[in-house]
Amino acid sequence: MRVIVQNDKRRAFRVNLAGPGVRGGLAALAVAALVSGCAQDASGVRPASGQQPSAHAPDAYGSEPRAAHAARVAAARRWNLERVPLTPPPPPAKKPVITPREGFEVTGQEGLPPVFTTVPTKEKVVFLTIDDGAEKDPEFLRMMSELRIPYTAFLSDYLVRDDYGYFEDMQSRGVTLNNHTLNHPYLPGLSYAEQKREICGMQDVIEERYGKRPVLFRPPYGNYNRDTLRAAKACGIRYAPIWNEEVFADHWDYREWDRRIRPGDIVLTHFRGPGDWGGTMRDMVREFLDKVTAEGYAVARLEDYL
Ligand SMILES: [Zn+2]
Repeated sequence: MRVIVQNDKRRAFRVNLAGPGVRGGLAALAVAALVSGCAQDASGVRPASGQQPSAHAPDAYGSEPRAAHAARVAAARRWNLERVPLTPPPPPAKKPVITPREGFEVTGQEGLPPVFTTVPTKEKVVFLTIDDGAEKDPEFLRMMSELRIPYTAFLSDYLVRDDYGYFEDMQSRGVTLNNHTLNHPYLPGLSYAEQKREICGMQDVIEERYGKRPVLFRPPYGNYNRDTLRAAKACGIRYAPIWNEEVFADHWDYREWDRRIRPGDIVLTHFRGPGDWGGTMRDMVREFLDKVTAEGYAVARLEDYL
């Protein structure tokens, strides 16, 4: 499948496609795109409103990314999206300086991991972060790989321990696995030593199971105090991203009064299934992507900006 292989180092996200039947269909669509120059019209999937001819347009990257774009168009159609997700710009050459969101600092914040809800950037990008780990839907992994949508996971051991392999598969697809404590407690109710056990304990689990010690930590419920950030730092954590919006299987919640997405916003969702929120992970992804794409946003990789 030469046409969909992507050597573009700007996007480390890996594509993991299904069996030969799907590959054949994609090849045909990709070729059609190369001939027509605009696969969106032929696909029946509407282009995003506000999509500008710019450095983000596939033409700017030559023929191979154009083929990759065609694959994305085909994937958008296959997964029933209203629009083709926009391609994010290359990661920033100079990383933004991350500071705590105003009002989210702790006393003596200096040197402690910042708690923030938005990454400072002018690019129209948002970041998808997925918490806990209860639902383990194989179709979700396939959907995100085929659509090439990056996301970042925050795992709690008590929910993932019955199937570490699921998240190993996720990691092999380019997703970074991060710390969301061992048992998901309300951290401000615990002593410093207890908080440190929850955070460092999860660092150990992730390092042991997945070979990497996270630098991102998200406190359960977004609740923390100074001891939380001190403990996190002692465990090797550098950043404590929380979120500015939350997406569910059928709606959005907003932190801001005007209920608008902003450039660099971090969006929270959860590994949840139909029993929890009346939809699948795939429904949640559609709810998420259809809105961000319609508003002209691409989904970027949080780690690329930190
Ligand atoms: Zn959680």
